[in-house]
Amino acid sequence: MSAAGETVAAEIVSALVAVRARAYSPYSNHPVGAMVESDSGARYFGANVEVAHYKGLCAEASAIAAMVSAGERRLRHVYVIGPGEHPCTPCGDCRQRIREFADAETRIHVVDARGRLLKRYSMEELLPDAFGPENLSH
Ligand SMILES: [Zn+2]
Repeated sequence: MSAAGETVAAEIVSALVAVRARAYSPYSNHPVGAMVESDSGARYFGANVEVAHYKGLCAEASAIAAMVSAGERRLRHVYVIGPGEHPCTPCGDCRQRIREFADAETRIHVVDARGRLLKRYSMEELLPDAFGPENLSH
């Protein structure tokens, strides 16, 4: 889970910083950017989008929606960047949302604007014993 001392590729960090800059977060003033990489290697981006009644959309959810809308279903990597240097880890709802499209190989990376990898999780580390599609019996 720990990622002390590791860095993330500059192209990924600059893309994350760019999408974070497009966040719409006037209520929380907590802009977040996310990038997901599917099993095809394509990358999809998302920023948080808040609304006045506070039921906004997280950056991770936004990026996953872009991936699914493009016709892809499997997450290889999820990258998240928050506004500061503290780790901006996925919220509970996003953990479940990531789980829907993750597998044992999926990695979730939390980075900062200086390119430092603050946290890296497997899906099991991020949401242990998660309820997933296979738990539904039909
Ligand atoms: Zn979230």
